[in-house]
Amino acid sequence: MRYLPLAFDLKNRPCLIVGGGAIATRKARLLKKAEARLLVVALDITDELRQLVMASGGEYIVGRYHSDLLKNAEMVVAATADGAVNAQVSADAKALRLPVNVVDSPEHCTFTFPSIIERGPLAIGISSGGSAPVLTRMLRAQIETLLSPGLGVIAELAGRMRDKVKAALPEVQRKEFWHWVFNGPIVGQVERGHAAEAEQTLLEELQRWKEKPAPSGEVYLVGGGPGDPDLLTFRALRLMQQADVVLYDRLVSTEVLELVRRDAERIYVGKKKQFHSVPQDDINQLLVDLAKEGKKVLRLKGGDPFVFGRGGEEIDKLAEARVPFQVVPGITAAIGCSAYSGIPLTHRDYAQSVRFITGHLKQGDLVLPWEELITPNQTIVFYMGLTGLPTISEQLIAHGMAADTPAALVEKGTTRDQRVITGTIGTLPALAEEHKVEAPALTIIGGVVTLRDSLGWYR
Ligand code: SAH
Repeated sequence: MRYLPLAFDLKNRPCLIVGGGAIATRKARLLKKAEARLLVVALDITDELRQLVMASGGEYIVGRYHSDLLKNAEMVVAATADGAVNAQVSADAKALRLPVNVVDSPEHCTFTFPSIIERGPLAIGISSGGSAPVLTRMLRAQIETLLSPGLGVIAELAGRMRDKVKAALPEVQRKEFWHWVFNGPIVGQVERGHAAEAEQTLLEELQRWKEKPAPSGEVYLVGGGPGDPDLLTFRALRLMQQADVVLYDRLVSTEVLELVRRDAERIYVGKKKQFHSVPQDDINQLLVDLAKEGKKVLRLKGGDPFVFGRGGEEIDKLAEARVPFQVVPGITAAIGCSAYSGIPLTHRDYAQSVRFITGHLKQGDLVLPWEELITPNQTIVFYMGLTGLPTISEQLIAHGMAADTPAALVEKGTTRDQRVITGTIGTLPALAEEHKVEAPALTIIGGVVTLRDSLGWYR
């Protein structure tokens, strides 16, 4: 992001527009909407611009631009047909540290105008920093169709009621109340044109909420999937948007984390192999404590919370402390890696069963039912099996698995950095080292691995 979208309060602020033609008029229209005071310098101006200037309580200065005019301005827009004048305005404004926009000349701007979608006090600006104006316009059209025209009235109503609601309800409840306002019957009332009725409904409901006991907190144990944010469930996304605080660990991808409500407090409780930043018991306790403060606590996990995710232990503690919770499944690494690497986990000709197993070493050791793992026509998926890969390979072969059994490593599956390395159970440990495979990585073993090539997978 090269350009930071900001929302300027321009009410009664003097903004200088240099130029009086159609483009200057267009910019003036926008600035007037933001209630700025328009100062326009030009030899001649359009009728509309003249009216805008008057209505804004501003001034039309007939003549040529000169730098003295900047003294009275807080923002400057240059929109003349003369490139040299525009450049001069830009240089002068920059010298005075005034924000300046030169129409269609990004190198002379310190700010640009985004594409704007307007609903009363609600404004959505889309900016590509000048790189793709057609795209921003297209997006604008798409967003326009999504937003009800009544939104502006609702936003206005919310603005008027803000202080009242603030005085009536404590913070956690307030948030929920606004949720109700923006999702409840009020929206319908406004859309049908009954704004006064809507206000009445809001006030009555506020009274009811005031008398209700404060809500208790809740924990959302959410599977964030293996990395690609597109793989989140709708429910996961909805709860991520409601959370007051989020506890996440290392497996949760940055892209997924970005979708959590911006204002939510973020607590990293990441686990790294042999290095637990926050011990599991403390995490369990923290979930209980935060929920008891009345917060909506998001416990965001990589993959699925109940597949090697210790989700079971966390809800155990919550149930004991009588904290309400919800569990939202996520796409587990095996399923995500399978789809994104072109290795089906089952196939009529190769595997009739799949086994997810942990390859996590305990004190350097791996105690597993090896005999069961060498069953034919079975796909084995090892989680946490990168460090232990040499042991896994050795033991499987020692227990009778053919050394040339196809095997694959999927590193950072479903993310943009995904790598897939295929070989056999005999060669995989050396390949892992050669390619410097890093966690998180998943090992898939079985005939299905060959399908990746035969299916012509290029991803
Ligand atoms: N609950 C998670 C698993 C946690 S155990 C889930 O359902 O996916 C951590 C292990 O998951 C890692 O060691 C790795 O083996 C695997 N893993 C998680 N995300 C992965 C990814 N994007 N690519 C490959 N393996 C992944």
